[in-house]
Amino acid sequence: MENKQGPIAGIDYPRTFKEFDSFFADEASCRAYIFRLRWANGYQCLKCSSNAPPWITSRGYIHCRECGSEISITARTIFESTRNPLKTWFLAMWLVTSQKDGASALGLQRVLGLGSYQTAWAWLHKLRHAMVRSGRARLSGHVEVDETYIGGTKRGGKRGRGASKKNIVAIAIEVHFPKGFGRVRMRRIADVSGASLIPFVCDFVEPGAVILTDGWCGYNDLPKHGYIHNKTVLSNTGDPAHVAMPGVHRISALLKRWLLSTHQGSVSAKHLDYYLDEYTFRFNRRTSRSRGLLFYRLMEQAVVTVPTSYRNIVDVNHNI
Ligand SMILES: [Zn+2]
Repeated sequence: MENKQGPIAGIDYPRTFKEFDSFFADEASCRAYIFRLRWANGYQCLKCSSNAPPWITSRGYIHCRECGSEISITARTIFESTRNPLKTWFLAMWLVTSQKDGASALGLQRVLGLGSYQTAWAWLHKLRHAMVRSGRARLSGHVEVDETYIGGTKRGGKRGRGASKKNIVAIAIEVHFPKGFGRVRMRRIADVSGASLIPFVCDFVEPGAVILTDGWCGYNDLPKHGYIHNKTVLSNTGDPAHVAMPGVHRISALLKRWLLSTHQGSVSAKHLDYYLDEYTFRFNRRTSRSRGLLFYRLMEQAVVTVPTSYRNIVDVNHNI
């Protein structure tokens, strides 16, 4: 389905809410859409690997002509075992992607008429879980790396590092010349030691990249890991941090504003990672031609993302 030009607006994804409504008139059309995206490169039976086009039963099961096995179209997607209509899920995804700043759990619960706040909250987290798949390719070129502090009430210590009761978030962003920014990656880290910062860079940035940091010693070992380290010692230049690290400074400010406005700052430490994933997904697709394309990208990832249970979401810290 996806050719060199990429997905086509109005054909592969809806452009407006009116089109959304006609794309997904009933459950069967929602299931057909999942099938189409999930097996965009041709169907293959999960059990016997047959490529024979399957029957689709009226209950939404895929019936293999070769081995006779039946699986739900939604098996092994984030929609697996949902008790809600797929259309409600699709609508949640439309709301999350069509609004510039996304949706809050309370907003989603109200608009969709979901039974509880917990359900809306769990849905949003499942969607964020799907969004993180977008972040697989590592950054390259010139990349600014720095940390920022989210939440808490205390002011930071010396140069903001070593502050207590705040979440430390490492941020890496591609810097374009003469101006502009590329993709971003973020992760909550336990502290600002090299043991936390170096693995963050190794996980998210291609070796050979030029890493721009301030003078913090936590970054000193970058050359040992194959990076070109370009250190700007702030006390030498006299520049405030936002001049030396404009990309990270901008992301940090936008992220904090988003957490405070859309989510009223009510983000607990152990769930912050999910919000970072959503913010990263949005930022890295900020140049998408339309909001419908964002919906399509999220749907693409939702159909290949193994579902997480509510328990998992509530209990697990997914990075540290
Ligand atoms: Zn089969």
